[in-house]
Amino acid sequence: MENHTSGFPCAVLFDRDGTLIRDVPYNGDPALVTEMPGAREAVSAVRKRGLPVGVVTNQSGIGRGLLSLEQVQSVNARVDQLLGPFDLWCVCPHGPEEGCGCRKPAPGMLLRAAAVLGLATKELALIGDIGADMEAAAAAGARGVLVPTPETRREEINDAAEVAATIADAVELLFKVQQAVLP
Ligand SMILES: [Mg+2]
Ligand SMILES: [Zn+2]
Repeated sequence: MENHTSGFPCAVLFDRDGTLIRDVPYNGDPALVTEMPGAREAVSAVRKRGLPVGVVTNQSGIGRGLLSLEQVQSVNARVDQLLGPFDLWCVCPHGPEEGCGCRKPAPGMLLRAAAVLGLATKELALIGDIGADMEAAAAAGARGVLVPTPETRREEINDAAEVAATIADAVELLFKVQQAVLP
């Protein structure tokens, strides 16, 4: 369809903490969920194009024994209520030592998202706030756009293929027609 030939993404995935909502480390309380600036606008801009939106989130607090799956799900439900509905939620519950294939920077959640949505991974885009998001996108062959926060390290910004100031700008960038002017 149109998106396949234009090279635009066919679905957009978002990191949760520090991208859609403010990062509150190991948060299990839905009352502490606060939207990042432009998040609502960004998600609805994708939805208006008729494309699926999803969330891919590392929640190692579960594996570390700091959070229950139910707490994470209640926070996710609040995010869905504020910014959703999302077509897809992928949660990695593992700690970094567990060696799973889904914790970003591994591409497992993007592979799963592609399978669930019936798309190729190269048709996906992931918007996130740290280098692990960009590495997961690259490892899956998907497009990644970094939206830095004050916590994002300088080298992560330098290494990112694409960078935007806000999540809304990132969506705009994804659907911008590239105009190549050759010398
Ligand atoms: Mg994040
Ligand atoms: Zn995992």
